[in-house]
Amino acid sequence: MLKLNNFYNGEWKSSLSGETKEILNPANGETIAIATRGSAGDTRIAVKSARKAFDSGKWSKLPPKTRARYLLKIADNMENNMDELALWETRNNGKVPASARIDVVNAIECFRYYANLITETSEKVFHLGKPVYTKVVHEPVGVCGLIAPWNFPLLMASWKIAPALAAGNTIVFKPAEITPITAVRLFEMIEQAGVPAGVANLVLGPGSEAGNELAVSPEVDKISFTGGTSTGKEIMKAAAETMKKVSLELGGKSPIIVFADADFETAVDYAMFAIFHNQGQVCSAGSRLLLEESIKDRFIDRLVERAKNISIGPGEASESEMGPLVSEPHLQKVLQYIEAGKAEGAKLECGGNRLTTGKFEKGYFLEPTIFTDTTPDMRIVKEEIFGPVLAVQTFLDEKEAITLANDSIYGLAGSVFSGDDEKAERVVNGLQAGITWINTYHMASVEAPWGGFKQSGIGRELGEYGLREFTEPKQININTRVQPVGWFKN
Ligand code: NAD
Repeated sequence: MLKLNNFYNGEWKSSLSGETKEILNPANGETIAIATRGSAGDTRIAVKSARKAFDSGKWSKLPPKTRARYLLKIADNMENNMDELALWETRNNGKVPASARIDVVNAIECFRYYANLITETSEKVFHLGKPVYTKVVHEPVGVCGLIAPWNFPLLMASWKIAPALAAGNTIVFKPAEITPITAVRLFEMIEQAGVPAGVANLVLGPGSEAGNELAVSPEVDKISFTGGTSTGKEIMKAAAETMKKVSLELGGKSPIIVFADADFETAVDYAMFAIFHNQGQVCSAGSRLLLEESIKDRFIDRLVERAKNISIGPGEASESEMGPLVSEPHLQKVLQYIEAGKAEGAKLECGGNRLTTGKFEKGYFLEPTIFTDTTPDMRIVKEEIFGPVLAVQTFLDEKEAITLANDSIYGLAGSVFSGDDEKAERVVNGLQAGITWINTYHMASVEAPWGGFKQSGIGRELGEYGLREFTEPKQININTRVQPVGWFKN
């Protein structure tokens, strides 16, 4: 049985309380690891470790090229253990192997990308008119508290840890309480890469205790959080007292707009991928399908036919296309939304049931679920469900499509399917969303900023933006002709 501990001051430690939490495989409810259960006191030790390491300058003052070499070693260690990392991601989160492997590949790429980016010049020199010139340099923020969700455990960890370390910060990372396995493996690889003690610290435990301490601690300079919007609001409030820098990657209720002139089978295929990939547990999931009225019946018939044929099963079985949801409580939350959809009068076209017999008996499996005849005020249309539940709406023209798409407190992602390039671009330009696609879905690249408008977040991850979130720009004004300014006459 795997035993998972905290990591600080370069050492693996169990929590002060000695309490533990069983980590489960969502495909069968079996215990696959025992994790130490850290709380505020453990986080305080980890923060002190990160503070001391930052203040010593042993990481922040290293030449970027040297830090980059450590990041590249971490990436190599991950690559050498790729199959094992992917397997743990499947066992702990439930995702199917193809998804798990893509996550690991992208996580490795993220470390390599930031290793390269940090070695490029980060200084800008402005000549403000002789004899003064101004340099702008980017310094690390300090101690960064990094908090991640359970839906892409390793990838979300990498999106934060790689740029934070690249920029010269020291870190305390807290994974989601139920999916800590690949985070622990990643920290073992960080240790093996020789990253100095205290630079990278890990605390396992519940958000309300171990995580909250990061937000309130006066010794933490920045919080980078990915998770639910309501948690993001709590973190922002907690961090306000010490005026920490905060970046937030939050929830979504993203639209996928399909016009009648779209390639029909491509649009159906992507509509499935948008909502059922990773069991719908994706922040940018296409959970609202907006169909042009004239194709509605044909499109729904085909979508339902294909959704019913999705192969559901444990991630470890090679034929599975959709695995279990991550936990029993999360499955219950999604089932409640399905009940709300029925109660509010939406039409259940397919799915809606938990799978309970045979290989599904002990896991958290749910059928792909599609609702039509929805109205904008229904909870299944307005709220993030974070499961394989699609709400279909219809529109008559471009204007109505954009209005419906933007009728949300969220603004994370959105997509348009059309055979008319100009129309697709017009509509995408009208979307209030940070991530948009034309005739595709879920594509993300490490070079491009990831994040949302409105209540989907503050700041961006990935790309140069992701690095900048972990730096403080400083202007340095240098006078080359040293003489009195002469402002006061006497
Ligand atoms: P969550 O908000 O419940 O938890 C996220 C993390 O925050 C966990 O590590 C948790 O332990 C911690 N946490 C909880 N309460 C806390 C508190 N008071 N103080 C500090 N930390 C606390 O979210 P989740 O259920 O793990 O993940 C699902 C959510 O994440 C969805 O809303 C999804 O849209 C969002 N998400 C967003 C993105 C993005 O890039 N925008 C990516 C992935 C997931």
